[in-house]
Amino acid sequence: MYIVVATNNQDKLKEILTFLEDLSSLDVDVLSLSQFPEIKKIDEDGLTFEENAKKKSEITAEVTKLLSISDDSGLEVDYLNGQPGVLSARFAGAGCTYADNNKKLLSLLEGVPFEKRTARFRCTVAISQPGKDTIITEGKIEGHIATEEFGDYGFGYDPVFIPINHNKTFAELGTTLKNEISHRAEAFTKAKALLLEIISKV
Ligand code: IMP
Repeated sequence: MYIVVATNNQDKLKEILTFLEDLSSLDVDVLSLSQFPEIKKIDEDGLTFEENAKKKSEITAEVTKLLSISDDSGLEVDYLNGQPGVLSARFAGAGCTYADNNKKLLSLLEGVPFEKRTARFRCTVAISQPGKDTIITEGKIEGHIATEEFGDYGFGYDPVFIPINHNKTFAELGTTLKNEISHRAEAFTKAKALLLEIISKV
């Protein structure tokens, strides 16, 4: 059996492959979009994480005729009324870097006290199979936005996000801990249980 991970973001792909690693013992081959060059970049023009995740997994399942799984995720900052949200990847504009986004975020929160810097990462996973309804799972982790970037691990907003019950950023805490507590870990733990059910029926 094959599962296609529908993301072009190599950083997210790395984390997702870790979550799906043990499926290989069940004779499941996990493929990525790089093996399907016919699928061009999918515009993420939805208003919600769910709309974007569904779009990516449904197009991929339709083209590949295989079970496809996608993740749409982002950061919501309460002081900014939930921004950057679905626009997390391009918060500082089209073609921006992770560093540009973090710089913009920190400047918008300049002078805002710690207790008002609350935020959360959200992750929505969509599982699509040709001819079947898409299944959705979700995960989130609450936290605070730091006053500057700290740490070298991870990607995106990891250097500025301090998860709840910790006093270091995801980028300082490292990948192993992040993959135990993150929004993506929660959504993929739920998704994996559903995948195991699907696999058991094949
Ligand atoms: P998308 O899901 O491909 O639209 O991109 C999500 C964007 O949200 C990424 O480009 C990052 O900027 C941010 N993001 C999502 N998950 C994480 C994470 O685990 N750490 C840091 N940033 C993240």
